[in-house]
Amino acid sequence: MKLSIAGGCGDFGRSCFFISGNQHAYIVDCGTSTDGMDRVPDLTAEEIRSAEYLFLTHSHRDHTGAVEFAEEAGFTGQVMMSAQTYRQLSYKPKNAVIMDSTAPEVELLPDFVLHWGRTGHCCGAVWYAITCEGKTAFFSGDYREGDPFYRNDPVRDLAADIAVIDAAYPTEETGDAMRERFLARAEALLADGRPLILPVPRFGRGLSIAAALWARTGGRYAMAMDDRLLREWRTFARRKYFVKPSVWDVPVEAFRPWDGAHIAGPGAYFLTDAQLSHAESRQLADSAPEARILLSGSVHGYGRAKEYVESGRAEQVLWPNHMTYGEMRALAGANRFARCIPFHDPRRKPEALLYEF
Ligand SMILES: [Zn+2]
Ligand SMILES: [Zn+2]
Repeated sequence: MKLSIAGGCGDFGRSCFFISGNQHAYIVDCGTSTDGMDRVPDLTAEEIRSAEYLFLTHSHRDHTGAVEFAEEAGFTGQVMMSAQTYRQLSYKPKNAVIMDSTAPEVELLPDFVLHWGRTGHCCGAVWYAITCEGKTAFFSGDYREGDPFYRNDPVRDLAADIAVIDAAYPTEETGDAMRERFLARAEALLADGRPLILPVPRFGRGLSIAAALWARTGGRYAMAMDDRLLREWRTFARRKYFVKPSVWDVPVEAFRPWDGAHIAGPGAYFLTDAQLSHAESRQLADSAPEARILLSGSVHGYGRAKEYVESGRAEQVLWPNHMTYGEMRALAGANRFARCIPFHDPRRKPEALLYEF
């Protein structure tokens, strides 16, 4: 089998891997770049037409933004994903197949078997172990063990001939240390008695941060969520399949509704605009100069978050919803992977773009 990196390694987003053998071909993720240019993966028309399946790990656009492009370029296969990924996608693929979460293993064809589990990165995010023509390829997707909100099916003792593993953070740290640093900073800002704006994506770390911050501060500070995040919280906070039991200790009413436009007093305000892309978010920041802004994710090429960090109006402390290099190596050590390809770090260029396995 051959694996070709069509994007996602040493790149801003654009995750996409093309795998082919003598009989079969498939694609894992098909994202656009996050540098503001929405670049599509480096797939040839022949590769796109030959692929029988496109497996999506989760809905984020650095993994799914180019699905429509693939369809327009001649992809006619099935697009496999979890139910939650389907719900979260703004563009619904023409030939979507929803995987059955009660049985995370399926024989698609006699020599083509798919196995998956939850990654802990957002609702519906999955990893894949795909065995085709006798060779197994593992794809971690965006992977996070130990998240305070999302459940993860830890990958252990899995044999694979090749493994593409999330290593978004180029450090040896642990997620626990990163999480502690973020929460300590957020708590210090709340203790200051000024409003704290927390821009987060609609699907992902917002619920993790909210649950962890509430648990840490025991409800001492008012916390509000805009409509879109509050809807997610109310939908998932009691859903056992997605959520850790510790989340059940956080009252469903812990977060009050917020219009996303007006700051009223101290406390935390969760705003679903991670990159401050919307004019309304910037109006909000300008209208409340006393409010602090704490960014928890990477600052991308689209949106205005970068300007806010550079001017000092916002500060950035990464919340871990990916793995560090140290954690990637630990995951590789807990399994039997013949070869590992780290992905998701824009700074680390891949050793090669094509691998035989
Ligand atoms: Zn993601
Ligand atoms: Zn990603």
